[in-house]
Amino acid sequence: MKKLEEAVRQFREERDWEQFHSPKNLVMALMVECAELAEHFQWLTQSQSRNLSPEKKEMIKEEIGDVLIYLVNLSEKLGIDPLEAAWEKLGKNSKKYPADQARGKSWKYHEYE
Ligand SMILES: [Mg+2]
Repeated sequence: MKKLEEAVRQFREERDWEQFHSPKNLVMALMVECAELAEHFQWLTQSQSRNLSPEKKEMIKEEIGDVLIYLVNLSEKLGIDPLEAAWEKLGKNSKKYPADQARGKSWKYHEYE
């Protein structure tokens, strides 16, 4: 992750794009890339979305890359370690969705009981 963060920083600095990277702009760019990712799945059936062609997967891979790059930029801008954030949230989710209650269910946590 550190290597990726450094490469993203270098890419940005070489182009003098820091000036455009306010947290607001980075969040918007992130959402645009998420939408580009979602567009590949728009109108597909559940089955089609599970059986993607290699060509489609390659295009999706590019969008996943875009999403991660903006997430790295945003995290750095806000001084948040994205891996730490993910580990912490996974821990919270484990408590919110105990395996014995959540197993096999797609319910929200407040729908248990
Ligand atoms: Mg893109």
